[in-house]
Amino acid sequence: MATIIDGKLIAQQVRSALKEEIAYLRDKKGLQPGLAVVLVGNDPASQVYVRNKKRACEEVGIASFAHELVAGTTQKELLALVERLNRDPAVHGILVQLPLPDQIDETRILNAIAPDKDADGFHPVNVGRLATGTPVFRPCTPWGVMELLRASGVDPAGRHAVVVGRSNIVGKPVALMLLAAHATVTICHSRTPDLAVQVGRADILVAAVGKPRMIAGDWIKPGATVIDVGINRLPDGKLCGDVDFEAARQRAAAITPVPGGVGPMTIAMLLKNTVEAAKRSRGLVA
Ligand code: NDP
Repeated sequence: MATIIDGKLIAQQVRSALKEEIAYLRDKKGLQPGLAVVLVGNDPASQVYVRNKKRACEEVGIASFAHELVAGTTQKELLALVERLNRDPAVHGILVQLPLPDQIDETRILNAIAPDKDADGFHPVNVGRLATGTPVFRPCTPWGVMELLRASGVDPAGRHAVVVGRSNIVGKPVALMLLAAHATVTICHSRTPDLAVQVGRADILVAAVGKPRMIAGDWIKPGATVIDVGINRLPDGKLCGDVDFEAARQRAAAITPVPGGVGPMTIAMLLKNTVEAAKRSRGLVA
């Protein structure tokens, strides 16, 4: 029976360490890290995410600046706000909550964020830095996956990692991070034939698809580490991952639950990126 990888606990440890570091930066260096969170429109899920991010900032001592704009905001208005935040010295990290309304070109907005304030790690400059092995700001969810592995004592070096999903926010960056950690990496997607065979070769499996329990328990290699990024809502309102958890835990050595696995890590790593950005603004990191 697999060990459960407790994302809530590991995220809490990341946040506690950050809290101490932030207190030191504020008291000894006069540096108050700040994160601007921009929300356009009134999508209820996005409102919850923004509220959670604000609360998480407050808990660790990061100043949060919430900008809530009406659904009809134009691209020009949003660009003007991003440019103002780029110039604001109290703001070290900028996060624009996705998705944005149809009249706004998401790529255009993400590319307008100053790469050195890119707390989400989505700017092409930061994607390029990650791809070339010199990461500065890493996308938060994939970085959270790597932190879960590290905290669980799973070293990807020399292991076969299989990533199911190739999105820009999860699949591709997590594959790059696993590669940088010296795993042999296979990336699967909707056109991959024999997914079960590929999954069965994984010492480390990362599932980032968005389809409830699509990865069957008997596909899993005995002794594998399973990281389930998927968050799916079932008709009864409960959440589940992309992996059939109950069956998979019979074969895996370690597995993340949903909820309580990868989910809590995303915000923790966002806070870490913000502190990194604040330190960089003062030349406190190499
Ligand atoms: P996307 O929809 O952007 O990507 C899904 C990927 O899964 C695509 O690459 C797609 O392939 C692939 N896929 C779809 N169907 C299959 C299939 N039958 N077999 C193999 N691959 C398939 O999703 P995201 O990456 O944004 O998110 C994935 C999941 O992770 C979602 O459940 C999301 O809610 C969750 N998530 C959780 C986060 C957190 O924990 N904080 C943060 C971000 C996401 P193709 O490219 O060929 O279409």
